[in-house]
Amino acid sequence: MNAGFDFDNSYARDLPGFFVDQQAARFPAPGLVLLNTALAQELGLDPASLSGQAGAALFSGQALPEGAHPLAQAYAGHQFGGFSPQLGDGRALLLGEIVTPGAERRDIQLKGSGRTPFSRGGDGKAALGPVLREYLIGEAMHALGVPTTRALAVTTTGERVERPGFPPGAVLTRVAASHIRIGTFQFFAARRDTDSIRKLADYTIARHDPALSGADDRYLKFFDAVLDRQARLVARWMHIGFIHGVMNTDNMTISGETIDYGPCAFMDTYHPETVFSSIDTGGRYAYARQPVIAQWNLARFAETLIGLFDAETDPIPMLTERLADFPSLYAGYWLAGMRGKLGLATEEAGDLDLVNDGLALLERHGVDYTLAFRRLSDAMRGEGDAFAALFGDAGGPDEWLARWRARAEREKTPPEARAGAMDGVNPLYIPRNHKVEEALEAASDRNDMEPFERFLDVLAKPFEQREGLEDYTRPPPADFAGYQTFCGT
Ligand code: AMP
Ligand code: MG
Repeated sequence: MNAGFDFDNSYARDLPGFFVDQQAARFPAPGLVLLNTALAQELGLDPASLSGQAGAALFSGQALPEGAHPLAQAYAGHQFGGFSPQLGDGRALLLGEIVTPGAERRDIQLKGSGRTPFSRGGDGKAALGPVLREYLIGEAMHALGVPTTRALAVTTTGERVERPGFPPGAVLTRVAASHIRIGTFQFFAARRDTDSIRKLADYTIARHDPALSGADDRYLKFFDAVLDRQARLVARWMHIGFIHGVMNTDNMTISGETIDYGPCAFMDTYHPETVFSSIDTGGRYAYARQPVIAQWNLARFAETLIGLFDAETDPIPMLTERLADFPSLYAGYWLAGMRGKLGLATEEAGDLDLVNDGLALLERHGVDYTLAFRRLSDAMRGEGDAFAALFGDAGGPDEWLARWRARAEREKTPPEARAGAMDGVNPLYIPRNHKVEEALEAASDRNDMEPFERFLDVLAKPFEQREGLEDYTRPPPADFAGYQTFCGT
């Protein structure tokens, strides 16, 4: 069977020694739970031939489409600051790469497909709840305009996995620009294998920054390109209140896509120190730490490239200088996006203070991050009550609102146009934790996919207000406090 999979497996072809060949585990009774037909079409696949039993067999790794070359990729990584020289795909298989009708190369990967030589103590499996969670949040991120891996399909395996409550086992089919991570470079750097790093760098440049291929200064420019993508990406996360939760170097891609939706979550009440992950007790990956951690991870990336420069060039000052510029690179993207959230298309010197004072106000009054910006567009239209009501005590935001109004009036566009632009960047519907849990519980415990599918529909248009969906816009009920997410998925 082929179903439109036109494999062209450059990773397997060009990088022997960077992976091991591997087959999926045998599963007793695969069943197709979800197929992302819109994505399938975008990829040039034929959804009809991917449905039912054929889809279940394929997306659980039981039947290989023609031309696939299943393999587990090697990588290393810093996890919570500590280095592991060998991680790798412990429960994932790269089936291969396809080139889409839009001429984009995409990895097709199964996650939860069984043990590999990289599994260490793990069972190589995934549970249905976390697989659905990755599907839902990843697709929401895509709709929010954030670079991300995508979810093509979910199958159950017909067996239960050893997690609390023995939930159904599942496999996620993930689509990515590539699965090359900072940790992939670290794997070879840890082995002092400069030839392999050079091979990997040239391969990755050809794949993600082809304009740099062959240039003498390509490794430095490549580093710049990766810095730039990560600065943009983390700024986007911050704009929408996304907390990745496990920003280890093996979970940071060279492509600039968000990857590995484990303990991630969206912040409800604005607070810079927000953490959801049960194991992140020190707050290393807290909301406001994400740009700093990105820079730290990129320093680890820079270290892997040092051996690639010729003897006359000392790369350390050059790489260091670029790394030192990361905070301002990031701050530029961040502020541009924050201006947009405030309805400001022009730039003034006082904008940074206006943004920061607004955020401080949200923190002080414990205001819902998403709703605050959404209600601010009503204020732009002249109806400020709903915004003010978020602050509890009367008059809290008045002074800031007056400053913001005075600033907004210096824009050249009419208020209605500004408010419309704000609604186009400030989402109304995000994957709020309590709604995510509701949907996953119904799916995992009661075999009821209806709440999940409905939520997926809502999240597909995050900026467009629709009748009857108020429930999805509300912050969590008071008894939902203390929400925690888990890594061991
Ligand atoms: P993650 O925290 O999901 O980014 O995974 C970190 C490392 O642990 C990677 O090498 C994964 O392949 C591996 N891993 C995570 N869960 C499992 C599992 N259930 N079985 C085997 N390996 C796993
Ligand atoms: Mg990972």
